[in-house]
Amino acid sequence: MRTALVVPAAGRGDRLGASRPKALVPLAGEPLLVHALRRATASDVVDVVVVVAPLGACDEVRSLLSPVVADVLVVTGGAERQDSVRAGLRALPEDVDVVLVHDAARCLTPPDVFTSVVAAVRAGAAGVVPVVPVSDTVKRVADRTVLETLDRSELVAVQTPQGFAADVLRAVHEAAVPGAAATDDAGMLEALGHTVRTVPGDERAFKVTRPLDLLLAQALLSPEAP
Ligand code: C5P
Repeated sequence: MRTALVVPAAGRGDRLGASRPKALVPLAGEPLLVHALRRATASDVVDVVVVVAPLGACDEVRSLLSPVVADVLVVTGGAERQDSVRAGLRALPEDVDVVLVHDAARCLTPPDVFTSVVAAVRAGAAGVVPVVPVSDTVKRVADRTVLETLDRSELVAVQTPQGFAADVLRAVHEAAVPGAAATDDAGMLEALGHTVRTVPGDERAFKVTRPLDLLLAQALLSPEAP
């Protein structure tokens, strides 16, 4: 019984406006990817690490990670996040029975989120997602016109790491249409009728997407952070 961590890190990060792939953008002197993996491996629940790198960046990623993770497999990603995750899953050893999928961009996710997601999968869930309450009111809109106001008490925002029974996740990805733009892996399970459970997420697991997110991450790493 081994737990693998698959880290899709092959996105371009256009919304961040950086000249580098997002996972390699520096934060307090180290790439986002390095921050993410330090916290993931500190959880002590990860046995195997697969990082999915941007095209042409596998060697750079390997050398960046060698001081952080003793043994890491690095493979090239695809056009969409889903393609990158599938490439990572194909690189996994056969004896892995639990898979965590974690966005490199959620680089400050604390180690205990990894621990609780793995525990929930090992307790029998096919899929597990960390969630936080939604603070904004959320509406459905089309043509700049509000169609519906959703009941906020029923809504959560979903983070990573998401955890899965390895056989279920492999099957779901192999059955999916390549190039489709699934934004999260749990959604692919839900679409096939699998039950996905939730565990408490953490505010620090926010995704670095826009320049403001990078400023927040820098502030959280400063010695004066609360
Ligand atoms: O674009 P977004 O922020 O949703 O990407 C989430 C994660 O998926 C990031 O860590 C990004 O590097 C990764 N990704 C990927 N391959 C892609 C697109 C995104 O590995 N083609």
